[in-house]
Amino acid sequence: MNIDLAYWQRISPYFKPQEIYSPASLQHCSHLIDIGFLKKINHLRAKIGKPIIINNWASTRVKIQDRIENAGVRTQNDNKKLGGASNSMHCTGRAFDIKIRGLTGIEIYNLVLETNFVFEGLGIYKSFVHLDCRANLTNKQNKNIKLWTKNY
Ligand SMILES: [Zn+2]
Repeated sequence: MNIDLAYWQRISPYFKPQEIYSPASLQHCSHLIDIGFLKKINHLRAKIGKPIIINNWASTRVKIQDRIENAGVRTQNDNKKLGGASNSMHCTGRAFDIKIRGLTGIEIYNLVLETNFVFEGLGIYKSFVHLDCRANLTNKQNKNIKLWTKNY
């Protein structure tokens, strides 16, 4: 996959492509990240004012369980290995698992709520929060926010 870096930097000042794509997803994914969603996560980052960790395999200290390379765009293969939902938004560039150093999942969730950004899918886990834009796919009539919690 070729990424136009100049374009990328304009729409994503806070996140480099390698924070969104794992090496495997860069090589094998046919889906690009959803641009609207990428802009949204950048706006969220600006509003929160703290680093948001998506993929970061440079440091084991920020490892998100075993999702260290798969918190952004995933290949179908990696998604299967992680036990992700078969229709996971991670495989179509419409989901991120975000972590903020020093905060639990519920604390990150509360921070996201304070920013008033609407994410159609929100999953709260012990150390991270899953954000997605599922309603932007095909299910336009269902604008209800789906919220779930796990492991806490
Ligand atoms: Zn997720």
